[in-house]
Amino acid sequence: MTAITSIKDAATLNSQLAALDLAGRLSLVAGLGGRAVFTTSLGIEDQVITAEIGNHRLPIEVATLQTGRLFPETLALIDETESQYDIHIIRYEPEQADIDAYAEKYGLNGFYESVEARHACCGARKLKPLARALSGATIWITGLRRGQSANRSDTPFAEFDPERNLIKINPLADWDIDVIRAYVADNSVPVNPLHARGYPSIGCEPCTRAIKPGEPERAGRWWWENDEKRECGLHVHEEVAGAAQ
Ligand code: SF4
Repeated sequence: MTAITSIKDAATLNSQLAALDLAGRLSLVAGLGGRAVFTTSLGIEDQVITAEIGNHRLPIEVATLQTGRLFPETLALIDETESQYDIHIIRYEPEQADIDAYAEKYGLNGFYESVEARHACCGARKLKPLARALSGATIWITGLRRGQSANRSDTPFAEFDPERNLIKINPLADWDIDVIRAYVADNSVPVNPLHARGYPSIGCEPCTRAIKPGEPERAGRWWWENDEKRECGLHVHEEVAGAAQ
């Protein structure tokens, strides 16, 4: 199959993926041709995808954004995951010049002071490295799920990303957290120990806290902001991403 680069192709692919199980979805995507990149945050759903890629030796690059502010538990899990599945997880780091410029303007932890400052930090530590990770890619695979937040409730299996000119694949879009947990238990998938301490969604250490029972999965991310649609800019549509950066 030739590379897919349009909304129409994404709609067709979305229908095909909906009819398959996870292994079928990833195999189909891996066979599309071009460069497929899976970006993992090492969260529990991302670990399910990594396990499938590793166990089936799929030709999909596995990459992570090593922001410089991750939890020690997350850093340890990167190494453990590589070892368990005999894969290499490519680390994309921010440019030191961008970190220095941010610290000069806002202070190292200036992200607590304003949404603008927070978006600027995510821009330097996540969005720019992500752009490098996806440079030249035709497929971007993510662990987004509809159940993660109201903001993600309409996540499709495949969508055209016009900003990055690629097809974004969300093979776990219809999986709920209980199915994820069952897969992890049945397949001895290594997971971040922070999940068991009340962190269903784990990002950078200074911007993530445990949630209370009954709170949405992503309530512990940037908890000091009031915007219900808060995201880091990686997974928002173009017009919102522009504002988020
Ligand atoms: S999550 Fe926090 S520390 Fe990480 S890049 Fe965004 S603002 Fe910076």
